[in-house]
Amino acid sequence: MTATNDAAPTTFVPQPDSADIGVYGLGVMGANLARNLARHGHAVAVFNRTPVRTERLMSRYASEGTFVPATELADFVASLRRPRVAIIMVQAGGATEAVIDQLRELLEPGDIIVDAGNTFYKDTQRREASLREQGIHFVGMGVSGGEEGALLGPSIMPGGTEDSYRRLGPMLESISAHVDGVPCCTHVGPDGAGHFVKMVHNGIEYADMQLIAEAYNLLRHVAGLSVAEVAAVFCSWKDSELDSYLIDITTEVLERVDPATGEPFVDVVVDAAGHKGTGVWTTQTALELGVAAPAIAEATFARAVSSSAPQRAAVRETEIEAGEREVTFESEEDRQAFVDAVRQALYGSKIAAYAQGFDEIATASQANGWDVDLGAMARIWRGGCIIRARFLDDITRAYAEEPELASLLTAPVFASALEDALPAWREVVSVSALSGVPAPAFASSLAYVDQLRAPRLPAALIQGQRDFFGSHTYHRVDDPSGVYHVLWAQEGRAEEKWN
Ligand code: NAP
Repeated sequence: MTATNDAAPTTFVPQPDSADIGVYGLGVMGANLARNLARHGHAVAVFNRTPVRTERLMSRYASEGTFVPATELADFVASLRRPRVAIIMVQAGGATEAVIDQLRELLEPGDIIVDAGNTFYKDTQRREASLREQGIHFVGMGVSGGEEGALLGPSIMPGGTEDSYRRLGPMLESISAHVDGVPCCTHVGPDGAGHFVKMVHNGIEYADMQLIAEAYNLLRHVAGLSVAEVAAVFCSWKDSELDSYLIDITTEVLERVDPATGEPFVDVVVDAAGHKGTGVWTTQTALELGVAAPAIAEATFARAVSSSAPQRAAVRETEIEAGEREVTFESEEDRQAFVDAVRQALYGSKIAAYAQGFDEIATASQANGWDVDLGAMARIWRGGCIIRARFLDDITRAYAEEPELASLLTAPVFASALEDALPAWREVVSVSALSGVPAPAFASSLAYVDQLRAPRLPAALIQGQRDFFGSHTYHRVDDPSGVYHVLWAQEGRAEEKWN
């Protein structure tokens, strides 16, 4: 690199055919991903729209490995060895679209563009089809683990063609997290499969976080524990099947005391949860696919409720008699029994939430012909990502034993865990309703399991209602393929068979 003077921007000397892979977009994630690649011995071309980020990366981290910086995009592309691989790490949407348009002008058939941002999978499918016409491989790639994961080892979920994975896979696997020596990266499936799986990963993350938050609320406001005591309970759960990164960070957040006020940190944070949209996408997509994902939807809605300040204020002001009952514990053992019941409700709900997420992936995989290996998805989420947890080993084993599981709930390990958890889980949901301490994801996860268990559902009544007002017809239990309608408006209300 050559610096002309202190004030002027640095101009990097072009170095054609010198890099194994390139990263376009050197924000928080892109810079760390580039450093991770360089640290693992890959020569990395780096480029950013605003050159100051490239300069900053080079001035701080050039010694970590081989970087090939470029000031001009054409130099960035020329520095890549053929077939070229360019990873884009910029905001999803218009920014990603603009960068793809720039790159496709400079790339050749056989080259590979990787979108590592959080892109909606349908955009990825559209772009993959368009770039395929030009002979360019387009890989939508989920990357989980945030800033630290990108640097130290993320969980990586690449889609795209098998050909592109043959070129990319060894580099990606080298920089991903590893658990028991196994990389947390695998080829998920063609076109948008990688971004789809990352989207559902985030949806599950929403559910997991909401369930933990509900457990905290019940422990605090029903069991009457202090914040520090709740932190100690979460800490003790590290020795259980709940052991996970999210339980670890929850403990740390609850242990923090606000230095300015001396109050628990959790009490000085405004109780309005933000989001960046992946929970909404996962919920919308579940609805489109006809898959039940109530824990993910409930978690997404709970964030919306928390952020509905005018509605919350207005309803609070009505001060209606809500009929809550104060829950009291006759002894310390009783209180501890409730704490343990919350643990079991959390585990049961977590199994239900993951079952819903895997159901969504399985359904999309079938609809799109992706052939996603569900056990492998659990395997690559064991390290590097936000939902990493001991429990994912059980999911991997469950799919290894029975790849065609209709639902994760039916795997022997989870069926027996549910049997253990259900009595306590019912207790916790009823105490939540009686005490007025809301636990919407606990309740809807329980209802999900009970609906799947039920020999008959009231859907039969809904079919009757639909037939009554809209002639939507119904099937009979004694003739499931026949289509029937009752002439509700006519005297005698005769039943007709329509085929
Ligand atoms: P960031 O720090 O805000 O950086 C954004 C980058 O995008 C910058 O390099 C910026 O370049 C570039 N950019 C924006 N608009 C552009 C345009 N029109 N043309 C060219 N470049 C443009 O963002 P980030 O946190 O690294 O996130 C990048 C992507 O990773 C996003 O899709 C995000 O959803 C995804 N992601 C983030 C995380 C996370 O924990 N942060 C985790 C997983 C995935 P300038 O410097 O020129 O503005």
